[in-house]
Amino acid sequence: MALRYENGALMMEDVALGTIAQAIGTPVYVYSKASITAAFGAYKAAFSCFPAAMICYAVKANTNQAVIGTLADLGAGADVVSEGELRRALKAHIPTSKIVYSGVAKRPAEMAFALKAGIFQFNVESEPELLALSKVASSLGLTANIALRVNPDVDAKTHAKIATGKAENKFGIPWKRVRDVYAEAARLPGIRIQGIAMHIGSQLLSLEPYDAAYAKLAEMVTALGHDGITLDTIDIGGGLGIPYDGGAAPDVSALAALAYKHLSHFGARLMLEPGRSLVGPCGALLSEVIYVKSGESRDFLIVDAAMNDLIRPAMYDAYHGIKPLKAEARADATYDVVGPVCETGDTFAVGRTVPELQPAEHIAFTHTGAYGAVMASTYNSRLLVPEVMIDGANFGVIRPRGSYDELIGTDTPWHNGEATRKAG
Ligand SMILES: *Cc1c(COP(=O)(O)O)cnc(C)c1O
Repeated sequence: MALRYENGALMMEDVALGTIAQAIGTPVYVYSKASITAAFGAYKAAFSCFPAAMICYAVKANTNQAVIGTLADLGAGADVVSEGELRRALKAHIPTSKIVYSGVAKRPAEMAFALKAGIFQFNVESEPELLALSKVASSLGLTANIALRVNPDVDAKTHAKIATGKAENKFGIPWKRVRDVYAEAARLPGIRIQGIAMHIGSQLLSLEPYDAAYAKLAEMVTALGHDGITLDTIDIGGGLGIPYDGGAAPDVSALAALAYKHLSHFGARLMLEPGRSLVGPCGALLSEVIYVKSGESRDFLIVDAAMNDLIRPAMYDAYHGIKPLKAEARADATYDVVGPVCETGDTFAVGRTVPELQPAEHIAFTHTGAYGAVMASTYNSRLLVPEVMIDGANFGVIRPRGSYDELIGTDTPWHNGEATRKAG
């Protein structure tokens, strides 16, 4: 994690976060470039046991151009799940030769865009999608390099909303159908079988599900070999968890060792799609305490960030650390930490013990670099939260706060059943 106290101030790299809270206002996301760089370096080193492993950053975790661009400069590829993400990856100079397109519902227009761009691989998640891709590619006179995303039916032992590798989840080709679907793919025009892919879930805090899934994957690659299907790539997905509460999280090199044990002897190019573990720890959401309200049975710390800025606690019961931006000797207090949105779910923490806080003080929610800003909305007509990149002693706004003009100005009024159209 990129945070530490120095001379009483919470620092990210060489910037006191209080400076940013003052200069930009709150709520605001801050990211450490050095932290992203270190996380990517750890992946690169760990997976150097495979020749030419391709690390495709799952851009949905944080799609800011500054973040994707930082990873592009380090040699990362991208895992995208929509045309919008593909456009973001291309704009951030991720080479098309390192882009893989995942997702259960790619539409023909999106497929056509990706085919014309010349991406490296489509991870196909169903038979209807395979047929659609074949049709689109043939009609364009192009060939789609595909991997089938298979569903190994293993329990990732993570939150139900981010488990993707059980038979009941919507993701991937059902295990029993995999060989037949490869056989079908081999016959289809516009399709070139390139590899196999899986992604069993997110925020995995144990390596055991990976062990089970890689073992099954290896069996499948062997079985496909007997069917005459050879694979150039094996994509093991992402999902490695991070220690939100300061506890233990699996080590990237242990993950690499597992992949090596099960998959290296096939000689295929290894691909992986980490998101959260690359950018989650790099970020903090800064917020200001608005009120401290004493309830009948508990005290509420009411802050200016809300579920629309960071939805993970409401959506996944997620834990985020809370740190005051000023370190000073003071007693602890226990609060329910809540935002201003009119929903009881707008709660960041229940019964959390932190240093006693005063109104107008600033706090940081930690580990918010992944699935934070990307999931933000303007619910309750709150302005879209800005983002700041920190690089050594420098920082810069990488997305400004939304404005009330943007928020309201794109609506079209409708009076007496008729739209009042704007000129032009
Ligand atoms: C979301 C996703 C990832 C990244 O997951 P993390 O938990 O952020 O590492 C990788 N691959 C696919 C197909 C995904 O949907």
